[in-house]
Amino acid sequence: MSEGEGKKSAQTHNIRAARQIVDTVKTTLGPMGMDKMLVDGGGNVIVTNDGATILRELDVAHPGGKMIVEVAKMQESLCYDGTTSTVVLAGQLLANSEMLFEKGLHPNVICRGYHEASQMATEYLKELTTEAEPLAVARTAITGKTLETSLDRVSQLCVDAVTAAGNADNVRVLSLPGGSIDDSYLFNGVVLNKDFVGGAEIQVGADDCLLINTGLEMVKSDDNVQVQLDAQSYQSFKDSGKNDLLTLAKKIADVLVEGGIVFVRDGVAESVVAFLEKKNIRVVHRLPESSMKSLSNALGLSIAQTPEDVSHSVNRPWSLEKYNDVNYIFIKSVEDDESTLILRGATTTTLDEVERGFDDALGVVSLVLNNGGAVYGGGSAYVAMASHLRTRAASIGGRAQMAIEAFADALESISATIAENAGHDPLDTVLAMRHAVLNGNTSMGPDVNEGGITDMAEHGVVEPTELVRQAVLSATEVTNAILRIDDIIGRKGVE
Ligand code: ADP
Ligand code: MG
Repeated sequence: MSEGEGKKSAQTHNIRAARQIVDTVKTTLGPMGMDKMLVDGGGNVIVTNDGATILRELDVAHPGGKMIVEVAKMQESLCYDGTTSTVVLAGQLLANSEMLFEKGLHPNVICRGYHEASQMATEYLKELTTEAEPLAVARTAITGKTLETSLDRVSQLCVDAVTAAGNADNVRVLSLPGGSIDDSYLFNGVVLNKDFVGGAEIQVGADDCLLINTGLEMVKSDDNVQVQLDAQSYQSFKDSGKNDLLTLAKKIADVLVEGGIVFVRDGVAESVVAFLEKKNIRVVHRLPESSMKSLSNALGLSIAQTPEDVSHSVNRPWSLEKYNDVNYIFIKSVEDDESTLILRGATTTTLDEVERGFDDALGVVSLVLNNGGAVYGGGSAYVAMASHLRTRAASIGGRAQMAIEAFADALESISATIAENAGHDPLDTVLAMRHAVLNGNTSMGPDVNEGGITDMAEHGVVEPTELVRQAVLSATEVTNAILRIDDIIGRKGVE
C-alpha cells in the first residue's frame, strides 16, 4: 500500500464512521421524524426524538464518530435546538467530499471551498431574515415532539416563561410526575423541593417571610483540641451555646410577631425549631444559595446575614404540595418576574421527553427575543442559500467552484430528509423548492402531509436565523476538521 493510499483510507474511515452516526439520527429530523428507543445494559429506557440526546447516549468508539457527537453538543449548548439539522448537514458535506476526492480534489481545496461557501451562505441569511413571531418559533420547535399534542398551550407557556425570565437560562423548570402535559403551567413564584422542619399540618397559607443567610445550630469545632471540664462546667458550656442560639431565635420572633416562615441557608437546631414553633413560626432550612437568591427576588426582600440583621418581613401566600411522595413548597412572587415552569407528564419516561421538548422551545424563543430575526423553516432557508451559492460559484470558477457547488447540494439535504422522513420523494421536493426559489419565492418547504411543497409562511413554520447560521457554521467546521485528518495514530496511554 502506498503512503497516499494509507492517508486516503484514514479519511475514508473517519468519513464512514461519522456518516454511520449521522444515519442513526437522520430519521428523527422534521415533524414526521421517528423516535428512538435507547436501552442501556441495566435495562433503562429513553424514548426520544432529540438528536442531541440520542448522540449523547450512543456508545461511540470511532474518533470520526465522536467528532459528530461533539458538534451536536456544541449546537445544543449554543442554540438549544437544530442539532439533528447540524448533524445531517455535516453528514451530507462529508458524503459529497468523498465524491470530490474521487474527482481528484485535494482535501485542502475542499476545506477552503467549504469554508468560503459557509461564509457566503450565512451572509446571505441576513437577506432571508424576517420579523420573528416568538409563538410561531416555539410551535415549529415543538412540532414532531411528544409535546405536539398540546401545541398551543406549550408554545404560549414557553413564550410567557422566557418573557418573564428574560432568557431561557433563567427559566426555572420543575418536572412533577403525574397528570398530563396540558396540566403544565407557569407558576408565578418559587418552588422549593423542601419540607418544613418538623413537618406542617396546614397545607396552604399566607405568612410573613424572612430570609437568613446562615445557620442556627451549634457549630462543630474543627479544631482537634481536648479540653478537660468537670461535669458542671461542661453543662454550662453547653447551655451557653444553647442560650446564644435562643437569643438569636428571639430576634426572629421579634420580627415575626404574628408567626410566619423563616428560610435559612444552613441548618437549624431542634431546640430553635421547637422554640419558633411555639411562636407559630415555621422553618425551612439547608437551602441552596440559588434558592435563597430566587426567594429574595420573588419576595423583594434582601437576605439577612444573621438573625441580628433582620428588620422586616414580607407577607406571601404559600402552599405545601406532595407529588410522588415528595413535598414541595410553593411561594408566590410579589412581581411576575420570578416564575417556575411546572411540567406535568404521566410517567418519568414521557416527562423527560417533555422536558427536552420544552428545553428546545424555550431556547429558540429566547434566541428570537434576544438575537432577533427568523427565517422560514422546512429547510427553505437552506435551499435559498444553495441557490445563492450556485450563482456565486460560477463567477469563482476553478476547483473551488466544485467544492462550493457540492456545499450547495449538501444544504438541500435538510428539506430532502424532512420530506423523506414524511414518506415523500426527497428529490421531487427539492427540485420543486429550487424552482420556487428561482421564481423568487423563498418560503416554500416540504408539505409533510400531502407531499410536494407548500408555503411555510402560511403554516407559520419559522426558526431563529441564529439557529440556522450556527448549524451551517458548526457543520462546516466539523466537516473540515474531519477532512484535515489524514492519519489516525494510536496514543500512548497515560500511566
Ligand atoms: P432539529 O434537531 O434539527 O431541530 P427537528 O426534528 O426538530 O430537528 O426538525 C427540525 C426541522 O423541521 C426544521 O428544519 C423545521 O423547520 C422543520 N419543520 C418543523 N415543522 C415543520 C412543518 N410543519 N413542515 C415542514 N418542516 C417543518
Ligand atoms: Mg428541533
